[in-house]
Amino acid sequence: METRGAAPSYPALVGSGLIASTGEEVAKRLRCPRCAIISDTNIAPLLADRVKQSLTSSGFQSTVITIPPGEKSKTLGQAGAICDQMIAACLDRQSFVIGLGGGVIGDISGFVAAIFHRGIPHVQIPTTLLAMVDSSIGGKTGVNTGAGKNLIGAVHHPSLVIDDLDVLKTLPQREFNQGFAEIIKHAIISDAEMFDALKDVDLENLAPLIRRNIEIKSKIVTKDEGDRTGERALLNFGHTVGHAIERAGDYREFLHGEAISLGIVAACDVSIKRAGLPRDQRNGIVDLLQKFELPTHLPPNFPREQIFDALQYDKKFEGGKIRFVVTSGIGSAHLSSEVTVEDIREAFDQL
Ligand code: ADP
Ligand code: ZN
Repeated sequence: METRGAAPSYPALVGSGLIASTGEEVAKRLRCPRCAIISDTNIAPLLADRVKQSLTSSGFQSTVITIPPGEKSKTLGQAGAICDQMIAACLDRQSFVIGLGGGVIGDISGFVAAIFHRGIPHVQIPTTLLAMVDSSIGGKTGVNTGAGKNLIGAVHHPSLVIDDLDVLKTLPQREFNQGFAEIIKHAIISDAEMFDALKDVDLENLAPLIRRNIEIKSKIVTKDEGDRTGERALLNFGHTVGHAIERAGDYREFLHGEAISLGIVAACDVSIKRAGLPRDQRNGIVDLLQKFELPTHLPPNFPREQIFDALQYDKKFEGGKIRFVVTSGIGSAHLSSEVTVEDIREAFDQL
C-alpha cells in the first residue's frame, strides 16, 4: 500500500515472510550499495541474519550495529556512536539505514539516517505491533535528553516500511497488547467500523487491521504535515493524561500503550462532561481496552499526586485551560478549549 509522506509517497508492505525479500524490495527503490542494519541486542539475534542474508543475495553489503534495548538507549550520545561505527564500516552518502526493531530503534535509526551525511535513506522494519501501526508512520525521528523525551529530532520519512507479521511471534505478550491501545485510539478518533471489528478481531490474520491503521495515521499526518492545522493533534487522544501517567510512573510502571489506555479512559470521562459522549460508548471503550488486557484503573499504590504535577509539564497547559482532544462519539474527535484542569483532575481521580 502507498503511504503519502511529505514529498513522494512511500510503500508500507504488510504480510507474512516479507523479511526474506528485504533485498529485492530495497533494490526496486534504492540505488545505494551499502547499509547499516541498526537493531537492539534482543532483536538482532532473532532477525538480523535473515535481513542480512536477503540483502546479500540482492547484492547489498550490510553491517549490523546493535544497541542495548529500551528507551535509555535513545540518546544523542548513542546516535553519535552509531554514526562513528557507520563511518568505521566505510558507509558514506551512498549508503542507507535499516531500522530493525520497535519504536526505540525506529526513532534513533531514523534520526541517524536524517543526520548522517546530511541525510540518507531510511528503511523501517518494525518488529512491534505498536511500531507497525503508529511510530513507523509519519516521519518523526529523534532522541531523548535529560530534560524530556524526543526533544531533539528531525522529520525524515522512510523510503520503505516492511511489516512482516511473522516477527510478532516472539514479541512478549505485554508488548503485543500495548499496540492495541493505539489501534483503539485510531478507532475512536476516526473509524467506528474498525471499533466494532476489534471486538472479534482475528489475531492470526492481522494484516487487514495493520493496513487500516497505517491508512488512518498516514491520512491524518498528510493532512497536517507541519503539525499546524490541529488535525495531527487528534492523534494525541488519550495522550495528555497518558504522558503524565508515564512520567509519574517514572517510565517504569507502565509501557507507553498501557499509560495511553489509562489516558483514553480519562479522556472519555472528560468527553462525557464536555463533548456529550454517551456513557454506554465510554463503557464499550473500557471493555475493549480490557479485552486486550490493557489497564483501565490505576493500581492502589500509584503516586496519583504526581500525575497532576506531571500534567503541568505538558506544553498544552495554558492559563488553566488545556487544548484537549475529546470525542463526542466513537469514530470522531475534535480539539476542545473548554476543558479545564479541574475536569482532567476529576477524570483521573476516577481512574
Ligand atoms: P516499542 O516502542 O515499539 O514498544 P521498543 O523498541 O521499546 O518498542 O521495544 C520493546 C521491547 O521489545 C524491547 O525490549 C525490544 O528489544 C523487544 N522486542 C521488540 N520487537 C521484538 C520482537 N519481534 N521479538 C522479541 N522482542 C522484541
Ligand atoms: Zn502514543
